[in-house]
Amino acid sequence: MTVTLLGTGTSVGVPVLGCDCRVCTSSDPRDRRTRCACLVEVDGVHILIDAGPDFRMQAMREDIQAVDALLITHHHFDHVAGLDDLRPYFFWNRQPMPCIARENTAEVMRTTFYYIFGEDRYSGAALLQLQTANGPFEVRSRYTNDASPVPVQPIEMTHGDLPALGYRIGNFAYLTDASYIPDASFEKLDGVELVVLDALRHKPHYKHFTIPEAVDVAQRIGARQTYFTHMTHSVLHAEEDARLPEGINLGYDGLIITLDAS
Ligand SMILES: [Zn+2]
Ligand SMILES: [Zn+2]
Repeated sequence: MTVTLLGTGTSVGVPVLGCDCRVCTSSDPRDRRTRCACLVEVDGVHILIDAGPDFRMQAMREDIQAVDALLITHHHFDHVAGLDDLRPYFFWNRQPMPCIARENTAEVMRTTFYYIFGEDRYSGAALLQLQTANGPFEVRSRYTNDASPVPVQPIEMTHGDLPALGYRIGNFAYLTDASYIPDASFEKLDGVELVVLDALRHKPHYKHFTIPEAVDVAQRIGARQTYFTHMTHSVLHAEEDARLPEGINLGYDGLIITLDAS
């Protein structure tokens, strides 16, 4: 299994337009953060989690040749604005692509992206099929019958007052945009080895874990390795990463992690 962090930045990205702070002007490439997204590859099946406004640049940078399913965490713009940029994945392969979301997210997406999901869909739109995640599901290859389906477990979280989803795929869990994780979800994270977790900044925010809160959550989950994501321009990579506990690090754009799927 290979996990690629496509983007690790907060909603406006880092650098922030018009800002000349030390992080926005840093020469460390790890301080350049595009909007959050993640690609998981399991034995030839490619699962994309979120497609934000930077998706096209991320896909070129990482040379993403195939996508089998799109899992949506929630409908905020920084996580869904790149949906149209999936269109080329249907130029040579007309197989529809499942687009998995929680029901509240799906409801908003049907309106926002009426030309993809509405009755009157635009013929050139991405062939995304919106499906509600009510429990565990499997992702199948759009390209071959030889690849084994990949089981996925949705993880319920709260993002401010918005119910949002994380996803567990084998030993990996992707938990961005969260300010609270219920006990039942911690149970579903039992035994996970790699976690990517929301950690906005130090100053409190009602929709996101702060870095100290994320350290507590990471230690409660107890994965061998946790990477933080969704950081603002108040977080200087080298400085912050050096003071995190063992097994917890800041993620950065383009980070690739390989692990055993189960
Ligand atoms: Zn976000
Ligand atoms: Zn959000």
